[in-house]
Amino acid sequence: MKIICIGRNYVDHIHELQNAIPEDPVIFQKPDTALLKDNAPFYYPDFTQDLHHEVEIVVKINKMGKNIDEKFAHKYYNEIGIGIDFTARDLQSKLKSKGLPWELAKAFDGSAPISDFIPKTEFADLQNLNFHLDVNGQTRQQGNTSLMLFKIDYIISFISRFFTLKTGDLLFTGTPKGVSPVKVGDTLTAYIEGKKMLEFEVK
Ligand code: MG
Repeated sequence: MKIICIGRNYVDHIHELQNAIPEDPVIFQKPDTALLKDNAPFYYPDFTQDLHHEVEIVVKINKMGKNIDEKFAHKYYNEIGIGIDFTARDLQSKLKSKGLPWELAKAFDGSAPISDFIPKTEFADLQNLNFHLDVNGQTRQQGNTSLMLFKIDYIISFISRFFTLKTGDLLFTGTPKGVSPVKVGDTLTAYIEGKKMLEFEVK
């Protein structure tokens, strides 16, 4: 399976990192070794001093597809969850300044903690979902999927022109504002519509 991530999908987050608003979705991938499941602890890596949380709604692909029309994209996923797109911000800034790819800063082992998945039918409107992240019980990030620049169905249509989607692939849909550093000993807790979905410790 593969993990496809969208960068710069919420305007308030684009502004906090002083990036430009993209014309097309900004896409990168993480390997399956980035996954962290079952609330397993995250071990702070030694190659960064500025590791940031980015809480994101995650969509699970449920069948193979290529060149998917936007109007049929909803047939390609049944479940959603929540995850963290961990980012070594210092390393990413260095790579960005040289015009280099972000993989080292974004795709390392354990950089994609994810919750269990729940049926999308539990929600009236996937493009109007509140989600948030607490660190040690304090809310750091709050978002609503209505604020996505590129909506889920459009993203699926767009990426399927380039990458064949397969059952079990995961789509990280971008982070709202409020990204900030984590430190050893922090507990991260992520919620969708007030329901606790994911909780783990940084070690
Ligand atoms: Mg992200």
